Amino acid sequence: MRLFAAVLPPPERLTELGHVVDRLRRLPGADGLRWTSRPGWHLTLAFMGEVDEELLPELRVRLARAAHRTPPFPLRLHGGGHFGRRALWTGVAGDLDELRLLAERADAAARRSGVPMEEHRRYQAHVTLGRARGEGMDLHPFLDSLGGFEGTRWQVEELALVRSSLPVSGVRGEQPRYETVGAWPLEGSGAQSG
Ligand code: ATP
Ligand code: MG
Repeated sequence: MRLFAAVLPPPERLTELGHVVDRLRRLPGADGLRWTSRPGWHLTLAFMGEVDEELLPELRVRLARAAHRTPPFPLRLHGGGHFGRRALWTGVAGDLDELRLLAERADAAARRSGVPMEEHRRYQAHVTLGRARGEGMDLHPFLDSLGGFEGTRWQVEELALVRSSLPVSGVRGEQPRYETVGAWPLEGSGAQSG
């Protein structure tokens, strides 16, 4: 199955983001993007791709350990960014060092469980909001509109393992696109109280 480790922002934070995206979707050119679906909004920590079922038990143990080593930390959705002319996203602010550490631990957990992990480029935490088709398009109008966005901060308290089912066109009663198949609490000893 196709898997990735992620941080899932709480529903209230996604609702906030939803209001911003509603605005973006009314801008000229918005139809040129495939907008991602809200219940699926997530911050990928480590993308694993196809994972053999038999690796799952060890993967779960190692992800639990990665979470266990990481204290809860604050994050907020913040501003906008893009990958070339193709992907539009919102970024995050807050304890990015802890987020990066969690991403590295999730990556290491997968690798040590036998998942062949790609060498990752510089980790750039983001929630993908839309993807342009083909050659892409000028994303600046959307970036301008996203620029001032500051979400309310929340405390990241969980590491999630998410299954991704690639869309099968024309199939009725299709499975949800993303399904959380595991979640482990962050509980590093460095946790701040409150
Ligand atoms: P689609 O591929 O249908 O457009 P998607 O990219 O959301 O949808 P997946 O390809 O299963 O679905 O990817 C799941 C998550 O992992 C997404 O957030 C995606 O951006 C991220 N991801 C996918 N491939 C990689 C990769 N090689 N490196 C880092 N992150 C990746
Ligand atoms: Mg993809």
